[in-house]
Amino acid sequence: MSLLQQRIQKIEQDIQAACDRSGRNRADVTIVAVTKSVSAARTSAVLEAGIRQLGENRAEGLLGKQEAIPNGAEWHFIGNVQSRKVKDIINRIDYLHSVDRLSIAKEIQKRADHRVDCFIQVNVSGEESKSGITPSELNQFIEEVGTYDKIRIVGLMTMAPFTENNDEIRTIFRSLRELRDGIAARNLPFAPCPYLSMGMSNDYIIAIEEGATHVRIGTALVGAESEEDG
Ligand SMILES: *Cc1c(COP(=O)(O)O)cnc(C)c1O
Repeated sequence: MSLLQQRIQKIEQDIQAACDRSGRNRADVTIVAVTKSVSAARTSAVLEAGIRQLGENRAEGLLGKQEAIPNGAEWHFIGNVQSRKVKDIINRIDYLHSVDRLSIAKEIQKRADHRVDCFIQVNVSGEESKSGITPSELNQFIEEVGTYDKIRIVGLMTMAPFTENNDEIRTIFRSLRELRDGIAARNLPFAPCPYLSMGMSNDYIIAIEEGATHVRIGTALVGAESEEDG
């Protein structure tokens, strides 16, 4: 078994165990392999290993990978997107995880040729370094974005702080789930909000226990480009 296959197998075991512990179905958790820091060749290997959902955080990275890998993948844009780059990516992706301000929503409305499935990024931890809507602004933001018919709000996304304190991470993820539940309960036609994009290499197990439907896993899955490809 290659190193890549071993990493995927470990992640699969972790996900299954977290689902078992929390009474969830494995089928309700999607792995998004974050390939932003590895080559197109390694990204192809990820796809061949059976992971079809790929995440990139820069327009250049996305377009370069798509050129090298024309078929078979679904593309998630997970990074901060600059307004002027929206037009380059918006009709080439399946999900946008990082809608965090009205200027981006406006630009999507202007540039998208179809309705785009979007996650709203929420800054639950309140760290200044993190982007995202604050929880208290979220309801109003959703109403405003709801007027843009090129956007379907399918979920919320957050990033936990870098900390060893698992309780702190769990609290952040739980808060995002509660915010999502509140939106879903409103049955808004433009914001069905079934999804929660949370959890990365260091915290995906906690995220799944707290309800993540999309875990964005980079290094723990794809490795580092400097390592042997395996
Ligand atoms: C890079 C990145 C990830 C993956 O990070 P790892 O720690 O390598 O798993 C997930 N989400 C976002 C938004 C990222 O930028």
